[in-house]
Amino acid sequence: MKYPFLKLEESNRPYMKGMEEAACRVIRSGWYVGGPEVASFEESLCSLTGCKYAIGVSNGLDALRLILRAYIELGEMHPGDEILVPANTYIATFLAISDTGLIPVGVDADPVTMNIDTSLLEEHITERTRGIMTVHLYGRVAWDERMAEVARKYGLKVIEDNAQAIGACSAVKGLGGGTVTGNLGDAAAFSFYPTKNIGALGDAGAVTTNDPRLAETVRAIANYGAKERYHNIFKGLNCRLDALQAALLNIKLEFLEEENELRRRKARLYSENIHHPGVILPELPADEREHVWHQYVVRIPGGKRNRFRELLAEAGVGTDIHYAVPPHRQPCYSGTLTTFHPNTNRLADEIVSLPIGRGTTDEDIVAISEIINSLTL
Ligand SMILES: *Cc1c(COP(=O)(O)O)cnc(C)c1O
Repeated sequence: MKYPFLKLEESNRPYMKGMEEAACRVIRSGWYVGGPEVASFEESLCSLTGCKYAIGVSNGLDALRLILRAYIELGEMHPGDEILVPANTYIATFLAISDTGLIPVGVDADPVTMNIDTSLLEEHITERTRGIMTVHLYGRVAWDERMAEVARKYGLKVIEDNAQAIGACSAVKGLGGGTVTGNLGDAAAFSFYPTKNIGALGDAGAVTTNDPRLAETVRAIANYGAKERYHNIFKGLNCRLDALQAALLNIKLEFLEEENELRRRKARLYSENIHHPGVILPELPADEREHVWHQYVVRIPGGKRNRFRELLAEAGVGTDIHYAVPPHRQPCYSGTLTTFHPNTNRLADEIVSLPIGRGTTDEDIVAISEIINSLTL
């Protein structure tokens, strides 16, 4: 493949030297789980988001689960309560909700932003609704005044699945306590899985919030349910973050803005260079800070998506689909979820993600665009 979808080693190449030094420092330090590297990673996340609290945890799914478990321990949510969630998301968002004994209630996507359609939120509310878990899918902010208004009106917690949008900013000011993802709602989950915009060399995640009780409870549950050693107030879990991953992430977090700016430039380049009547480009938001382009997702309507991918593969261009089967059509949820999500279903048939990582250069993007323009679909 001349233009592979992802060359993950390229995402780390600029940081290689710093990462090697950090790894040596951790090996020599004797602190391997938690400790000063994790504390400094948490401080960085606080200053990035403006949140009062950040807790480094094992991965993004655990970050989401811990937030919900903590709300249950605090009596704010109870098993059987409903959480509104975009139907168009990665399975982890749903898994976190159902794993905690809560009920995921899918809300269809806006076909333009591909994010949750906030005009549909209110009609899904029942007396058991306790929260909205919004997902900034592909790196685009999924939060607006309408979501904030519905949350306020019905007393719902807004939880951000911020696995894909670290560093994105909402253009809506003056609501929710902040403008950066991770500080738009009541609590947020981050993932630092190696393929994310800022990736560790293994699994890693974090929770951010301004709520001191929630922060304290998440931290305790993630550490066997103990605030003090051998005093277990919750039936907890082990979801702690390694010092090694934190040390590596501390290096990369300093370059977050540069990483996101690179992706924005590549997205603009695709949008300027692809001209094909059969290819629908993703919308560039009016305020470019609203998107950090974890994925650049085009749509190929008319049942031609698979042919598009095959032709590109023949021309040496790797592509991917995020996500081919939405959660409500996964066998693990068979018969248990609402399935009327026409926009999500259509997107699942039409979407294709093009290469946008560090391993794809500006020249590659121009070349890939030309290949796309020459396709007979
Ligand atoms: C990656 C991802 C997760 C899960 O994060 P992990 O660190 O892989 O557990 C959750 N939600 C979304 C939207 C993701 O992209």
